Amino acid sequence: MPHNKIAKEKIYDIAIIGGGINGVGIAVDAAGRGLSVFLCEQDDLASHTSSASSKLIHGGLRYLEHKEFRLVKEALAEREVLLKKAPHIIKPMRFIMPHRPHLRPAWLIRTGLFFYDYLGKREKLLGSNHVYFKADSPLNAAITRGFEYSDCRVDDARLVVLNAVHAREKGAQIVTRTRCLTAQQKQTYWQLMLQDQQGQYQIRAKVLVNAAGPWVAQFIQEKLKLKSPYGIRLIQGSHIIVPKLYPQKNAFIMQNDDRRIVFAIPYLTKYTLIGTTDREYQGDPAQVKITLQEIDYLLQVSNAHFKKQLTRQEIVHTFAGVRPLCDDESDNPSVITRDYTLALSKVEAEQAPLLSVFGGKLTTYRKLAESAMQQLKPFFTHLPLSWTAYEALPGGENISSIEQLVIEIKNQVADTPEDLAHRWADNYGSRIWAILGTINSVAQLGQDFGHGLYALEVDYLCQQEWAVTSQDILWRRSKLGLNFSDDEVAVLDRYLNSYHRGAAKEVN
Ligand SMILES: Cc1cc2nc3c(=O)[nH]c(=O)nc-3n(C[C@H](O)[C@H](O)[C@H](O)COP(=O)(O)OP(=O)(O)OC[C@H]3O[C@@H](n4cnc5c(N)ncnc54)[C@H](O)[C@@H]3O)c2cc1C
Repeated sequence: MPHNKIAKEKIYDIAIIGGGINGVGIAVDAAGRGLSVFLCEQDDLASHTSSASSKLIHGGLRYLEHKEFRLVKEALAEREVLLKKAPHIIKPMRFIMPHRPHLRPAWLIRTGLFFYDYLGKREKLLGSNHVYFKADSPLNAAITRGFEYSDCRVDDARLVVLNAVHAREKGAQIVTRTRCLTAQQKQTYWQLMLQDQQGQYQIRAKVLVNAAGPWVAQFIQEKLKLKSPYGIRLIQGSHIIVPKLYPQKNAFIMQNDDRRIVFAIPYLTKYTLIGTTDREYQGDPAQVKITLQEIDYLLQVSNAHFKKQLTRQEIVHTFAGVRPLCDDESDNPSVITRDYTLALSKVEAEQAPLLSVFGGKLTTYRKLAESAMQQLKPFFTHLPLSWTAYEALPGGENISSIEQLVIEIKNQVADTPEDLAHRWADNYGSRIWAILGTINSVAQLGQDFGHGLYALEVDYLCQQEWAVTSQDILWRRSKLGLNFSDDEVAVLDRYLNSYHRGAAKEVN
């Protein structure tokens, strides 16, 4: 964004560091309550933990074992709220847990599922059941029965981007590829030094919110020169993507001998997503990569359950992320609390406050943002009440069903292939009309980059969703990267280069 478009002379109410789910969630809530909000993200939106998740909006069945009742109750209820807010990117999904009596007895699982069914209000999501596997089951013949329950899947990166769009529509100023270098506490405001591709500039804000995810503690120590109120544990989690393991639409939750669980989740139309792992991580969060041990661990868990046996050769893609967990001094990485902690520190009385976010889940981002606003209430008089539960995310408005939207898209653009109409409906919901306008044939979509990506969509993503590079478009605004060859990516890169130089035209 050109610097002259940023209001540097004004004092924002809130400046937020971090364009992951927690930063954008707080931005949208605060902006919708009438506060002036500035958010900076050093890379692309959702480029770190928030695009490397298992992509579930879930209560977290296994957290019941660790007695995380507060978190599970809140997360279970959020499933229904978020399903209503974003029916295009969040979908109900049935999960099957094969019964392995030597790991957890049936009575324990039944008790857990009873709590899961009733701890949070359920409207759309079905309750739990017993299931018996027949000959057509994709599971090993030795696994004969199990349990079935509901949670939801989500496009994690789009959840972030749509919250950012929502925040902007409520008046927030959002800048990407802009790093906060330092923030100094002046008497009544924070002065932030920011760096983007054009250079450095300063902005001021009454409150600073540190939603830097894996960098939260480092940000306090290095950029603010203060002491972090909590320690952070960086716990790596990795996933593999393989060709569809089974034709059914449900996910599986597999119990492993180490008492951890691993999911196998239908992913896009052609794949299965398998994850995740838990391992202590020491390095730079931006450089995290799946290890060979993690790959073999995930293959071993899958092979212990499914008839179809996998080797490393079947893997089409992998990704890894770092959970920024609040250090509760647990020895075992998989039992560290997944709940969030908000730390409000006023360094000295009468000084501008700092609110830092430790931990959290995608699922609870909206509630985390509400708690953040609750903590900041004393600093803003007449703050309106919570509102985000009742307003759809961009594209979630005016949808009767995704199937109906697909029909409407095909009515307008008659030659749209079925899979493209579905991808548009799932990615954009009712905002697809902002892309398509009045066009009525695929030929009018502009340059064809392959796999259903055309210039019209690329231009929209650059203009409206902060996309700059092919990576932003192929891995976060969409998941088309799984299909693109290096040559196809190079063509898109060339188009984007000329687009950003202001000269978008057909390039080869
Ligand atoms: C393997 C794995 C699986 C998971 N699965 C699920 C799941 O299925 N469901 C679920 O609910 N949750 C899940 N989670 C948890 C969830 O993904 C995280 O809690 C959430 O994404 C954290 O978001 P965040 O905004 O705190 O951090 P991030 O997404 O990492 O965002 C922080 C941002 O701050 C930016 N930043 C840092 N320093 C600066 C600076 N100085 N200036 C500007 N920007 C800066 C970073 O670039 C980064 O983009 C999973 C996590 C992992 C790792």
